[in-house]
Amino acid sequence: MKTQESQCPVCGYYCAGKGGVGCIDKPNLPPANSFKGTIAFDFDGVIHKYSKGWHDGTIYDEANPLVLNLMFELMEAGHPVFILSTRSPKQIIRWMNTQTPWFGAMAYDLEGGFEVKKVPFWSKFWNDTKNLGVTNRKLAATHYIDDRAVLFDGDVEKLKKELK
Ligand SMILES: [Mg+2]
Repeated sequence: MKTQESQCPVCGYYCAGKGGVGCIDKPNLPPANSFKGTIAFDFDGVIHKYSKGWHDGTIYDEANPLVLNLMFELMEAGHPVFILSTRSPKQIIRWMNTQTPWFGAMAYDLEGGFEVKKVPFWSKFWNDTKNLGVTNRKLAATHYIDDRAVLFDGDVEKLKKELK
């Protein structure tokens, strides 16, 4: 019987709790009832205001509080959320710890706040709803939020026009 207890903590699917690499070997298993889509947020230009572009490589700008608010709301609603950036996760985690009591080091003092954790190097999924993930690898997600994204709907001609 498929119970809540047998739900894999890694992939959110019923794979007898095997988790990790084993999860991707079973792509046709039904999703858990409680599963909510994972949402990936780009960092520069989305979370970090990035008013001067890359500049000197530091995280020099403030956060967009409305984006942090949205991330918090999504996590409260049960969505796993992770930050996807080419920057080093360590740099982002250090900065996130100074931005808001909703995430990171200050979250200890706030009931319902979320810690910020580096996604393990072996993980292909982020289904942790208790911690905000940070990675520089593209992981599976139902939505990617990015200031430079172009939506591809199968129409190459339309895409070509958008890239001009
Ligand atoms: Mg960006």
